[in-house]
Amino acid sequence: MYDVIVIGGGPAGLSAALVLGRSDRSVLVCDRGDHRNDASRAVHGFLAREGTAPDELRRLGREQLRPYDVEFAATAVTDAVREPPGFLVSLGDGRRVRCRKLLLATGLVDMLPEIAGLEPLWGRSVFVCPYCDGWEVRGAPLAVCGGDGAALALSLLRWSEDVVLFTNGGGPLAADDAERLALAGVRVREEPIERLVGRDGILERVVLAGGDAEPRRALFLKLPQRQRSDLAEKLALPVDEKHGAETGRRQSTRVPGLFLAGDASRDVMFAIVAAAEGAVAGMTIGVELQAEDLAERICRGSRASRGK
Ligand SMILES: Cc1cc2nc3c(=O)[nH]c(=O)nc-3n(C[C@H](O)[C@H](O)[C@H](O)COP(=O)(O)OP(=O)(O)OC[C@H]3O[C@@H](n4cnc5c(N)ncnc54)[C@H](O)[C@@H]3O)c2cc1C
Repeated sequence: MYDVIVIGGGPAGLSAALVLGRSDRSVLVCDRGDHRNDASRAVHGFLAREGTAPDELRRLGREQLRPYDVEFAATAVTDAVREPPGFLVSLGDGRRVRCRKLLLATGLVDMLPEIAGLEPLWGRSVFVCPYCDGWEVRGAPLAVCGGDGAALALSLLRWSEDVVLFTNGGGPLAADDAERLALAGVRVREEPIERLVGRDGILERVVLAGGDAEPRRALFLKLPQRQRSDLAEKLALPVDEKHGAETGRRQSTRVPGLFLAGDASRDVMFAIVAAAEGAVAGMTIGVELQAEDLAERICRGSRASRGK
């Protein structure tokens, strides 16, 4: 029986494993290996690791866990059920393992629109977040794609004066959005996008139905996301329509012994925030385990003293 099983080996899961490893807990980290920022070249906004490649950040994280009782399984978790006092977890490699506490750090999937030419540009000049990737393309002709992308397009003015919103055939904008965009100097194109044209991962232009093209250097998508794993729902944790699974105080959930951290929870979706949430979860789990251990120890002590 492990003290803790962490599902997900991204920044959230690794950070939790570090805190738990350093409190001498036995931890199993299961990771399927499909991380949200796999297509990205660099993690930005991560203090002291600015610009590090995502897989290098994870490699460093795993390496620094070596001194501790933290085991890795490069496999999917296919099922998890609550069997008090802990959980029974089924792994893709056929094993079934038990733990006292379970942490979901399983992340999100970005649901990319079907636009020809998008895939080779994703993570390189097609992005989701200007706070992550706006700096490298500041001052360049930028674009936003999404029928509900007005706010994102307006926020991009922080990085460039030349912003076009492509609604991609998503219907006319609300009148007040259209007015605000026009007044702020953001152009709107309502035709469907036919394809993106780029070279070596760099977007060159957005081609619209009808053949017109807009030269653009980067495109930011306003897109829906979903949970990367269905384990939250399997464990009866509410997941709302805005993708987030519900957390309570300090990354706990309403399911006893189950914790949640990183993009899978409802918060800012930065790697450093995911890592911070993982650290909080690690500490909360550690405190809960310690309280249980202490109660058990005091109980034993009291039985022993009565037997004297
Ligand atoms: C294109 C792009 C660029 C980005 N750039 C930045 C940036 O510059 N700076 C920044 O701070 N953030 C950036 N982000 C956001 C960042 O990637 C996330 O905030 C961060 O990865 C969240 O970490 P996490 O640990 O919660 O999830 P993830 O990193 O997605 O890790 C989740 C892990 O859970 C595993 N998993 C899921 N289900 C299972 C299962 N059933 N069994 C086993 N394992 C499972 C997955 O394999 C994965 O390893 C970017 C995102 C995208 C899409």
